[in-house]
Amino acid sequence: MTSPSHNPALSSDHGDLPRRGLMFIMSSPSGAGKTTISRMLLERDPSIRMSVSCTTRPPRPGEVDGKDYHFVSQDRFDATIAAEEFLEWAHVFGKSYGTPKAQVEAGLAAGQDYLFDIDWQGTQQLYQKLERDVVRVFLLPPSIDELRRRLTGRGTDSAEVIADRMARAQSEISHWDGYDYVLVNDDVDRCYAKVEQILAAERLKRARQTGLIGFARTLMAPAG
Ligand code: 5GP
Repeated sequence: MTSPSHNPALSSDHGDLPRRGLMFIMSSPSGAGKTTISRMLLERDPSIRMSVSCTTRPPRPGEVDGKDYHFVSQDRFDATIAAEEFLEWAHVFGKSYGTPKAQVEAGLAAGQDYLFDIDWQGTQQLYQKLERDVVRVFLLPPSIDELRRRLTGRGTDSAEVIADRMARAQSEISHWDGYDYVLVNDDVDRCYAKVEQILAAERLKRARQTGLIGFARTLMAPAG
């Protein structure tokens, strides 16, 4: 079997040395374009895989169990917490969300990169546990007017519903300074290009290059 770290499909740049995978976290308030940017990344970069979370909220129209989320009962969620099978979990606006441990831990060691769409609480927990693997990116909307426009929807929602969405978005935005990179999404293609650049540079960090020590040794061996 090919070693995953030598599998070109798992490498951002064919010919790279073996490396550890990274955890690429993207957080944002809803209305900042995170779903679009995540989709673009998953479609264009076969080396990164989505970390599929568990949630106790019901599926929205079009969402697929096992792909968008694992939709679970509160009992099942609580049992997973008790079994310590979440890497992180949090209550977000009255529902529970968590990242299952198993898939991610094995994948990282094998050189697999993961994309996380989680909130600031989950980001803090992952950073505390796995600081060296984590890359934290926060997306901001270009202005408060634009945010309101994006959250107003098709104009059918009541003023109260819109005010609630705005309050949630602003509460999420207040955590912007807990991230390594903060991008203003004023143009989706430009923002996506920045996300790609961050990912490319982070993949090349020395600390992730597990093959580097052996390789450097071969270069430093006394010439015979
Ligand atoms: P939604 O219900 O709109 O899909 O997600 C609501 C919020 O929960 C978003 O901010 C999303 O990033 C966050 N979220 C989704 N999955 C997880 C998770 O596994 N852990 C944490 N901490 N937050 C999550």
